[in-house]
Amino acid sequence: ARSKPEYRLDRSHAEFVRAGKVIPGGVNSPARAFGAVGGEPPFLDRAEGAYLYDIDGHQYIDYIGSWGPMILGHCRPEVNAAVAEALAKSPSFGAPTVREAEIAEEVAAAVPSIEMVRFVSSGTEAAMSAVRLARGVTGRDKIIKMIGHYHGHVDALLVSAGSAVATLGHPNSPGVTPGAAADTILVPFNDASAVASAFERYPGQVAAVLLEPVAGNMGCVPPRPGYLERLRELTTKHGALLFFDEVMTGFRLSYGGAQEYFGVTPDVTCLGKIIGGGLPAAAYGASKEIMSRISPVGPIFQAGTLSGNPLAMAAGLTTLRLLKRENPYPALDRLAERLEDGLRRAATDARVPHCVQRVGSMITIFFAEGPIHDFDDAKRSDTALFGRFFWELLARGVYFPCSQFEAAFLSSAHTEADIDHTVQAAREALLAARG
Ligand code: PMP
Repeated sequence: ARSKPEYRLDRSHAEFVRAGKVIPGGVNSPARAFGAVGGEPPFLDRAEGAYLYDIDGHQYIDYIGSWGPMILGHCRPEVNAAVAEALAKSPSFGAPTVREAEIAEEVAAAVPSIEMVRFVSSGTEAAMSAVRLARGVTGRDKIIKMIGHYHGHVDALLVSAGSAVATLGHPNSPGVTPGAAADTILVPFNDASAVASAFERYPGQVAAVLLEPVAGNMGCVPPRPGYLERLRELTTKHGALLFFDEVMTGFRLSYGGAQEYFGVTPDVTCLGKIIGGGLPAAAYGASKEIMSRISPVGPIFQAGTLSGNPLAMAAGLTTLRLLKRENPYPALDRLAERLEDGLRRAATDARVPHCVQRVGSMITIFFAEGPIHDFDDAKRSDTALFGRFFWELLARGVYFPCSQFEAAFLSSAHTEADIDHTVQAAREALLAARG
């Protein structure tokens, strides 16, 4: 029995219908249309700290944080002030500015694998450019990718697995050519032997092993102990680059990202989300030697009209400096642990099969028995139950990611009271959702 008679989205509905006439699905990124949970999304008006406000007058505790960037919460005064100051000087020049070196120095000091970094405007662009870099540097074509990991809508990475493990991929969207997919080898996450056999099957052909060091795009799935270390050994042995996509984990799991958190240093890293402080910025970086192969120093081409955009650099640099100064990571971990424990107890009491997985402030409640190690495990989840749970939560003022296969994020603006409210809402939502 669903019990949310008072929760209505009349104005959002009207705007969704209007938008749907001029924007495919009414949205500029598909997940926002709530296809995975059914129904129509609330349209948002504003946000502050850990709270979102929609145009129908509802307030929500935010667990998506713009899908990762808002680790300090929304509208941190220092970040907004830095953006306003930059805006007054001009939104864009297309010429060098001082802040670009300042933020690059900050990133190089923070992220173990990075000595030099190039800024771009989206995680997709960062991943795409870094794949080109890996191929250009090694002179090899093939990329090993993990099934269920997402690196943006790059042709070569929008690929699904064939029936056998460690085989070449198939396009998983119309418009991606078989040629674009043909050099992508898919293996399951958390299975180092699959990577070893891929190296044996394609000797001397693999440019890089690419992965989310903690998967967030199939729900939160940590690496098994020793897995990242093993990938480090295998890539070194076979002359390939280890490539961490830290678009989600960078500045999230610790200031130096997953590579600092786990103590495994890749060759190439891409960053996004937090590095732009909520504005469009992303980056890829590596050693000086590798990065010196990029134009205009080297022959590998990459460029961008709005790359290093002043507003994005102001938001990003201010966010990074606040993170370094305030070191919110231990507190975020404690807060997320409180949520983890609360969700686990609520789901146990509701007798719902579940598995709560968390690394730092990334967390997912899977509606399946755990542990979840790879995409096949994740796909066993009861997504219909997740959809009902999601809506029951939303009606109770808690905004979780609108898919079983996305991680929730906490911010330093969340309080223990927010977590306790969320756990109580989850308790009620689980009882209502399980029927
Ligand atoms: N890599 C990872 C790990 C991501 O989570 C995402 C986006 N969720 C991307 C790349 C793509 O970033 P963007 O949406 O900014 O293109």
